[in-house]
Amino acid sequence: MIIEIQSLNVLHDALERLEEGFSDLPEYSPSVDLEALQRVMVEVADRMQDNYPYPHPMYCGQMLKPPHPIARLAYALALWINPNNHALDGGRASSVMEKEAVAEIAGMFGWETHMGHLCSGGTMANLEALWIAGNLTSRKKVVASKQAHYTHERICGVLGLEFESVPCDSRARMDPVALKARLDNGDVGTVVVTMGTTATGSVDPLPEILKLRSQYDFRIHADAAYGGFFKLVDNLDPETLSAFECIHEVDSIVVDPHKHGLQPYGCGCVLFKDPAVGRFYKHDSPYTYFSSKELHLGEISLECSRPGASAVALWATQRLLPLVPKGQFANDLGKSRKAAIRLHEMIQDDPRFMAAMAPELDIVVWAPKAKRASEISSLSKAIFEESAAQGLHFAIASFSASLLKHQWSDIEWDQQDVTCLRSCLMKPEHLDWIERIWQALDKATKTLGKTPIIE
Ligand SMILES: *Cc1c(COP(=O)(O)O)cnc(C)c1O
Repeated sequence: MIIEIQSLNVLHDALERLEEGFSDLPEYSPSVDLEALQRVMVEVADRMQDNYPYPHPMYCGQMLKPPHPIARLAYALALWINPNNHALDGGRASSVMEKEAVAEIAGMFGWETHMGHLCSGGTMANLEALWIAGNLTSRKKVVASKQAHYTHERICGVLGLEFESVPCDSRARMDPVALKARLDNGDVGTVVVTMGTTATGSVDPLPEILKLRSQYDFRIHADAAYGGFFKLVDNLDPETLSAFECIHEVDSIVVDPHKHGLQPYGCGCVLFKDPAVGRFYKHDSPYTYFSSKELHLGEISLECSRPGASAVALWATQRLLPLVPKGQFANDLGKSRKAAIRLHEMIQDDPRFMAAMAPELDIVVWAPKAKRASEISSLSKAIFEESAAQGLHFAIASFSASLLKHQWSDIEWDQQDVTCLRSCLMKPEHLDWIERIWQALDKATKTLGKTPIIE
């Protein structure tokens, strides 16, 4: 069973409670043709069967984490009102809930004051952060690591800002020496520090980058779209931990509640340390929908209409699972981290495989051993497909020779890139399932026959 439906009763009761708030209105009953709904919904369910089993622990491929039942229910309940968090006029309660939920996220990062809001996702959130950064740095250059999310370069294109990438060390983290060389040119205005890269979960060395900031003048934007919530986790490596411990010193942060925050898609968050950046958003709306003097979120957001339901879902989730160290939310994330450490150890102990790098968060990257990069790539793809045939779902990802040639010194690089297996162990249940996952990987690898081993 992957479809939990018991909680629907809770939604039914909560909707009746919601109705009570509007009981003084003249009688009105929206009509529905239940038979027609049923007909189409059966078709919808049939169509939706064509998916990988994302909610199941045997799905451990891409960054897909099921929303918490409370998020689904609260989102659904909000849809009966369908609030728009652009202005208080269209989303009264949900705007207040958004401000509260966002303040809790800012608090998690150690910020007592901030300016921020939800948006459609990490890409939109990064766009806003870099738009503000460009405005505050006389439109000087933006740099990010070679492993930073690909959208940063494209966002800079949209904003008309110059972009340059900085090489990484062997653990896919920005190389501070290479960054210093860029800074010496004097044209860098903003450094994007990735706190958990999308490919490998690598965390850029923020403490060293902060040291550079005391010598050079630049803004720091932390792209913590994936990794942000690991701020709460206590089983990180010392270097990773030290980066999260100083995240409050950056100028802006992006985190995606729809990645690790148990939310449905459409929930990113951008935060600025200095609330005064709100002045860049100033606009004179031709409409008169800003009816009160209180802050309307549309006054500090690039997007106009935004789903109040997202805010309601996030608020409810954080109400149930507060963003505190050692709380259930933190412990569950810690389990994902533990599962990654375990899988990495199993890979290291097995002569058929080689790890690409030690995981910093909960993403594990490895490959079957072979002599040449081309063979490794085709074996990775074959294991990916054979595992899937057996109900175990990984992802594959391509990495450049320059990133892996130091740890895989015996490999003949007959091509520039190599395809590896990649697993995002985002569900806490992955920890309990790790033996089953390993058995299925072992079986898939054996089914493929003899795997050449480097002596
Ligand atoms: C996922 C991700 C993004 C993009 O976020 P979306 O929510 O997919 O738009 C940006 N940066 C990092 C590090 C990410 O992992």
